[in-house]
Amino acid sequence: MEKLANYINGQPTAPQSGKYLDNYNPAEGKVYSLIPDSDANDVAMAYTAAENAFATWANLPSAQRAQILSKIADLIDRDLEKLALAESIDNGKPVSLARVMDIPRASANMRFYATAAMHFASESHLTEGEAINYTLRTPIGVVGCISPWNLPLYLFTWKIAPALAVGCTVVAKPSELTPMTAFLFSQLCIEAGLPKGVLNIVHGLGPKVGQAIVEHPKITAISFTGGTVTGKTIAATAAPMFKKLSLELGGKNPNLVFADCDFEKAISTSIRSSFSNQGEICLCGSRILVERGIYEKFVNEFVAKTKQLKVGDPQDNTTNLGALVSEAHMKKVLSYIELAKQEGGKILVGGSQAKVFGRCENGYFVEPTVIVGLNHTCRTNQEEIFGPVVTIIPFDDENEGVMMANSTPYGLAATIWTENLSRAHRVAQQVKSGIIWINCWLLRDLRTPFGGMKQSGVGREGGWEAMKFFTEAKNVCVKI
Ligand code: NDP
Repeated sequence: MEKLANYINGQPTAPQSGKYLDNYNPAEGKVYSLIPDSDANDVAMAYTAAENAFATWANLPSAQRAQILSKIADLIDRDLEKLALAESIDNGKPVSLARVMDIPRASANMRFYATAAMHFASESHLTEGEAINYTLRTPIGVVGCISPWNLPLYLFTWKIAPALAVGCTVVAKPSELTPMTAFLFSQLCIEAGLPKGVLNIVHGLGPKVGQAIVEHPKITAISFTGGTVTGKTIAATAAPMFKKLSLELGGKNPNLVFADCDFEKAISTSIRSSFSNQGEICLCGSRILVERGIYEKFVNEFVAKTKQLKVGDPQDNTTNLGALVSEAHMKKVLSYIELAKQEGGKILVGGSQAKVFGRCENGYFVEPTVIVGLNHTCRTNQEEIFGPVVTIIPFDDENEGVMMANSTPYGLAATIWTENLSRAHRVAQQVKSGIIWINCWLLRDLRTPFGGMKQSGVGREGGWEAMKFFTEAKNVCVKI
């Protein structure tokens, strides 16, 4: 069975303990590779490598850093098929999705920040007649990047690319559930000539490896994407050490559909925003709020379209929904469907584990599920499920729609469907989410600020925001 390795000081490296963890193929429910069960000793080794590499990497002209990062992007493009298949096997997602979303986006992240490195500039302020101030921005040092399992290579590169571009060196931990593409990525880094120690990847469990990264006294900043509960633990650990933190956390995103929307577009995009990647995207809209005038028509059409979706072998190009990432996660999602029933919800379609035959008969599949009849305040409508489960709730007017949209502890993303321009802008201002899509979903420009309000996170990533996060600003005041 294949044994994955950590990537430390430019080398594939076995965990110091010699221990490994099982890595599952969730579509088959079978172990197919082994990953290092690393611990604080491996993190310490990775830190030392990153620290030793820091001065040289930080002082390299940005054009040279950009060249290496662009080379990595080219190699990702070259290996598109191999990486898409690896992502699909590791995570359970349809290979057809990984081919058009995860892997192209990973190379786009690397290329975007490679070029950003060459355009990064800082401010200057003239204090009339007295002084010129300028802002010096220098890479913050060795940073920790911790990423989740839902978009493994996509979110891994989203974190490390800006860090490397500004001249930081990195100790990174991908999710233990989906380590494979980060492992393949380390091979591409070696091929691209990334200097040793600049990026270090330590595989293993969150509470062991992730916690050791957060606790390391000399890792100066942590960029984390994952669940809100883990985010709280990280914040509690890092705050007394005054570490800089970027936390991208969970969501319970509303999809506000007004009666004056373009109905067909609202339906087809809402199907995508509900069930893409089995609903395991932090930006998926899991609460569909529909204006009462079109509620019945919307529900009927939405249910009919949901019934057409195919749950199946992730390697079959006609599959719409693949497997959930793990048995534990499947059980969690199914438990929320049971909770919805207890809370009085009516399941219109789905509601059970999906049976897929052949090689996938033991996989972790869940039927796309649509639930109605629940109040917006119940647990099903307040807690993140992170699976192919949506609720549809009617509202009577704009005020009530906005109130329901804002009624959860989360504030990551929201989608608004209306053809009324004034309403679109008005509602966009009132909904408390870091990202608002109007008449679209998941349309991303990498220059825009990305992140959540309330319990969906702290700070923003994307564009200059990420470049600024990984640098320390210093004001230099020169008397004239
Ligand atoms: P987790 O919070 O469980 O894990 C995220 C990462 O943190 C994993 O690498 C995990 O390792 C690691 N980790 C776990 N415990 C600790 C710890 N104590 N200290 C440091 N690191 C730790 O999230 P999931 O992987 O389950 O991802 C799903 C969640 O991520 C959802 O809530 C989703 O909404 C959110 N998410 C948010 C996004 C955003 O941009 N706001 C984007 C994508 C997802 P391991 O897996 O080994 O336990």
